[in-house]
Amino acid sequence: MELYKLTAHELHKLLSEKKISSLEITESIYGRIEKLDKNINSYITLAKESALQQARKADKKISAGGKIGPLSGIPVSIKDVISTKNIKTTCGSRMLENYIPIFDATVIEKFKRENTVILGKTNMDEFAMGSSTENSAYGACRNPWDTSTIPGGSSGGSAACVAADLAIMSLGSDTGGSVRQPASMCGVVGLKPTYGRVSRYGLLAFASSLDQIGTFTKDVEDTAILLNIIAGHDPLDSTSVAKEVPDYTKSLKNDAKKLKIGVPKEYFAEGIHQEVKKSIQNAVETFKKLGAEIMEISLPHTEYAVATFYIIAPAEASSNLARYVGVNFGHRTRDKGIGNIVDMYEKTRDEGFGNEVKRRIMLGTYALSSGYYEAYYLKASKVRTLIKKDFDEAFHKCDVILTPVSPTPAFKIGEKISDPLQMYLSDIFTIPINLAGLPAISIPCGFSNKGLPIGLQIIGKPFDEEKILQTAYTFEQNTEFHKKKPKID
Ligand code: GLN
Repeated sequence: MELYKLTAHELHKLLSEKKISSLEITESIYGRIEKLDKNINSYITLAKESALQQARKADKKISAGGKIGPLSGIPVSIKDVISTKNIKTTCGSRMLENYIPIFDATVIEKFKRENTVILGKTNMDEFAMGSSTENSAYGACRNPWDTSTIPGGSSGGSAACVAADLAIMSLGSDTGGSVRQPASMCGVVGLKPTYGRVSRYGLLAFASSLDQIGTFTKDVEDTAILLNIIAGHDPLDSTSVAKEVPDYTKSLKNDAKKLKIGVPKEYFAEGIHQEVKKSIQNAVETFKKLGAEIMEISLPHTEYAVATFYIIAPAEASSNLARYVGVNFGHRTRDKGIGNIVDMYEKTRDEGFGNEVKRRIMLGTYALSSGYYEAYYLKASKVRTLIKKDFDEAFHKCDVILTPVSPTPAFKIGEKISDPLQMYLSDIFTIPINLAGLPAISIPCGFSNKGLPIGLQIIGKPFDEEKILQTAYTFEQNTEFHKKKPKID
């Protein structure tokens, strides 16, 4: 049996029935990684030894007859922005090339309690800044559907490895679209939970008021299972919310009747690829046939979202990244000619950071500088509130909102790398959701003429992941898009 192909819920069943072992699953995936990942480059670091150890531990528990958790013995991968004790965590940067955390992120601790198998750390844009995983210091990641194209970003490695069956599921981070956009481009399911739903403790900070850990899975059922494990309040993250965690698997109902779906007119404007537009319209039709009520809505401040994000995110990043000066973490220049500490900081940062990270630090430092703070950061914060209010208003009328995830399917490697503005615009439909702190999912809803996946975004009310999951599950049960796999063998 090709165990690597299965979902977590399928594997859990086989494990519980003692028909397979976690060691078999884990070995089947490493075999595949060794064969195929040289063409995709979805992993930066593999943690084979500790993974096999964890698998054996899970198997022991199973053979002892104890009841096992839904992710016990299931091999997952982790974006290299999440701290893993004793496993290198580079953030896709030279700066942290040799950084080995001495503690686990809360989400990793939760996995360890479950005996979940951690395969390794996935490729990403440096410090999660990017939309194509080309800004990685460890080489670009490739899209398994067409290796001449990008997998999306910044969690491109996580999306690519789930699509290529090089992990059963994966964790990523989403600050402006970094889970949903790569999920859409690689044809997998990607959820960004509500800000505060999942602990950020141990997630290396990019823009703290926007960052949220999210999930990559092969189907919606696995998303619900994974969210059950990682959601919840954490005293170590004061922005995590002390709200009860429902059993998300209860939301997996094939039912669109009574569902009120809003479709915002601003999300179908110029610049959107015709095949993307068509796929989203078809998805809306599918929901109509299933009995949902469809209504046009307006989110009038949408056009300011990208500009607002590119003040707030770089401003927060410039502050968060100030810690990398060659003292506490990671790289320090070896230049012997340096005579004072300020020059040491400068040289270290010049050597350790790539171009996009430097661009963001400059943008953010400028936006926060004395005399400009009110004009930029304060103004952007006010516009952010207006964007949030647009959604509040819309959610008086509808339960969920449907939009495209990305204006285009995956583009060619190199196509946008020298045009940052074009790159930034690929997050035009995902950024507003982070600014408003809302939950949203990307699910497969079509293919371009060239056979590249297209994703549908379902946006929910704050802490209403349940409605998103129900909507996504209903679509999945009535369509076949999620069943198609890239041909990479
Ligand atoms: N692509 C956006 C950026 O480059 C968002 C990235 C993210 O969500 N981490 O900032």
